Amino acid sequence: MPVVAGAGMAGLVAAARLRELGVPADVREKGTRVGGSMLLSSCVIWRHREWEDFRRECPGGDERLQRLVWERLDEAIEWLVSLGAMPVWDETGNSRTVGKRLDPKQLVETLLRGGPNEYSLGCEGIFIRSEPTEPLVLATGGFSASSELVTRYISPAAPLRLRANPWSTGDGLLYALDMGAAVTSGMDEFYGRNMPDAPWGEDEFVTASQLYGRFARVFDETGEEFFRRDEVSWSETNVVQATARRPRARAYYLLDEEGLAARVRDRTVGEIVEAAPPESRVPLSSLPFGPPPGTLAAVRLIASITHTIGGLRVDERARVLRDDGTAIDGLYAAGVDAGGVATGGYASGLAQALVLGLAAADDVAQRA
Ligand SMILES: Cc1cc2nc3c(=O)[nH]c(=O)nc-3n(C[C@H](O)[C@H](O)[C@H](O)COP(=O)(O)OP(=O)(O)OC[C@H]3O[C@@H](n4cnc5c(N)ncnc54)[C@H](O)[C@@H]3O)c2cc1C
Repeated sequence: MPVVAGAGMAGLVAAARLRELGVPADVREKGTRVGGSMLLSSCVIWRHREWEDFRRECPGGDERLQRLVWERLDEAIEWLVSLGAMPVWDETGNSRTVGKRLDPKQLVETLLRGGPNEYSLGCEGIFIRSEPTEPLVLATGGFSASSELVTRYISPAAPLRLRANPWSTGDGLLYALDMGAAVTSGMDEFYGRNMPDAPWGEDEFVTASQLYGRFARVFDETGEEFFRRDEVSWSETNVVQATARRPRARAYYLLDEEGLAARVRDRTVGEIVEAAPPESRVPLSSLPFGPPPGTLAAVRLIASITHTIGGLRVDERARVLRDDGTAIDGLYAAGVDAGGVATGGYASGLAQALVLGLAAADDVAQRA
């Protein structure tokens, strides 16, 4: 029986597809619940509207994988809907992208209904350190929760706060490296958000995100303005990655009248700032540097990591590859265990998990 390691987005999708194809899988989940980071997410599953924009915004990615995700996503979302997933929005709310927003809890329930007959929780050390005898789909969600691997590959100036499930500590990556797998470029890249430098928990991962770098002046604590607002990408991933490399992985967003009045979806920046934890709102007189004229508010932020962008090198069948481009027999990686989709920019992790989860399952089923 094939083994699926991880019951987040990619693992649940792979298991559901395998069952549909008459090949039930043994699903093993390390955490105390299923759903992975997907369950915590806004659950907007999207692709760039235009292929050229995807290539331009993620120029370091593997074009074959990008094409796979871009071309297969719409039918993959329809497949989720055919299983019973109920769209909350039929569009993404962003004119650059197309896709759907689903309800994460309902999506997990849908995938479990169509997916594994059984799954086991709390499976630490699930991997046998030898060539897999049964096909093995690694869907462990990358290495964002391992401060050791984050330090090794991403080298932030200080530990990053985790804005994701706590179990994705790189088990899939380490296992596959032992098997001779190759990694992609972009191992030093990640998707994350600048978050208030204050306590926050899982329930606030979305609401506490300070997604207005493009309306702010961005300083580090030495007083250096290290990122120009007109360079901030629409996803703001680039300013978050830059913040990670500044002293203590922190930034100060300074806002003037115009900045505070700008809108981010249904709120003004001023409203977002007011809702930020008080510990992160810094009186101008307490800033460690002199603010520029016109500054009305300052927020101290810390870079957080949601998921890694680099990962295992896979082909369009989600088979894990060696450096010489040959596939490791029976070993697959789906979701953000695989790298090479969003390198250089930002793309939907859920789309990557959905399309690669399906590709892995289809290939595994063909072997059965
Ligand atoms: C707050 C937030 C908002 C987000 N919003 C969006 C969004 O709107 N759109 C979007 O596209 N993406 C979004 N994301 C990112 C998205 O959730 C991830 O990219 C996606 O879940 C990746 O899928 P995955 O299957 O690779 O990993 P996950 O869904 O995280 O699943 C990995 C699973 O593997 C398990 N695991 C780890 N190690 C092992 C092991 N050794 N054995 C067994 N199981 C293991 C983990 O416990 C977890 O359940 C968001 C994430 C967060 C946290």
